[in-house]
Amino acid sequence: MQCRSAEELQLLVNEAKKSSNKGKVADYIPALQKANKDTLSISLFYPNGSCFSAGDIKENLTLQSISKVITLAIALNDRGEEYVFNRVGQEPTGDPFNSIAKLETNKPSKPLNPMINAGALAVTHMIEGSSVDERFKRILKLIQKLSGNESISYNKEVADSEFKTADLNRSLCYFLKEHGVIDEDVEQLIDLYTRQCAIELNCLDLSRIGCVLAMDGKDPYTEEQLIPSSVARICKTFMVTCGMYNASGEFAIEVGIPAKSGVSGGILGAVPGRFGIGIYGPALDEKGNSIAGMKLLKLMSEKYSLSMF
Ligand code: GLU
Repeated sequence: MQCRSAEELQLLVNEAKKSSNKGKVADYIPALQKANKDTLSISLFYPNGSCFSAGDIKENLTLQSISKVITLAIALNDRGEEYVFNRVGQEPTGDPFNSIAKLETNKPSKPLNPMINAGALAVTHMIEGSSVDERFKRILKLIQKLSGNESISYNKEVADSEFKTADLNRSLCYFLKEHGVIDEDVEQLIDLYTRQCAIELNCLDLSRIGCVLAMDGKDPYTEEQLIPSSVARICKTFMVTCGMYNASGEFAIEVGIPAKSGVSGGILGAVPGRFGIGIYGPALDEKGNSIAGMKLLKLMSEKYSLSMF
């Protein structure tokens, strides 16, 4: 069964929204504190171009950790699997996204996977280009192409706010540098990383990106292969195993689709072969996932049999 109308989707949003008062907006990046905790919006985008949206769909969100999927796709394209996975692992971690613990205990010393901050910083480091601006433009360009929206840019206030407060990410970078995983100026890498995290779009844009991933990297409109299918497969696999922070196992059981969340409250979902999902609900649970967004996906998974397992 599939969703047949925006009204049908709105009923699920109304139900899921009740849980947002139990969550908390991320505040470690000061600019994110301004988000309205009660917001919840969703878009579904289908390969035939049809889409359904419900909730506060005019609200914009910044990608935050969702950007890690896109930068992984670029790094795999630029450097190849062997290079990338010699420097970043492929295993899930039960630790929070910004944890430094496993960097020390994992031998050889490399981040466990590209979806935690340490791994994502190493991956962003691998993106080719002669300057931060050029590398950032490459990230932005791919996001514009995947979403079919050339007007997407980044929120400078959010980027600056994170840049000023990103000392934990700086410490991850110094650790990576000490162990030879990265060899670039840390301030430069943090500049690029905070800009990629601050790329701003809406749920509809996000759902179109999810649709391209669901269709193995091919734009269903233009038929252009925007991401090689082998790369899309790797991205979706990481989304399943590590996309929802240290709640990824529970999410796989209860929802069962490749998804990636960010601390802004965004969730990117790709239902393989079927459609893409974009969600925005800034009230987070204790693991950093949108509390109402998770509830909404659980309701949808039951109603529309989304689980791939
Ligand atoms: N910019 C955030 C950080 O690095 C992204 C974290 C997230 O969304 O999980 O702390």
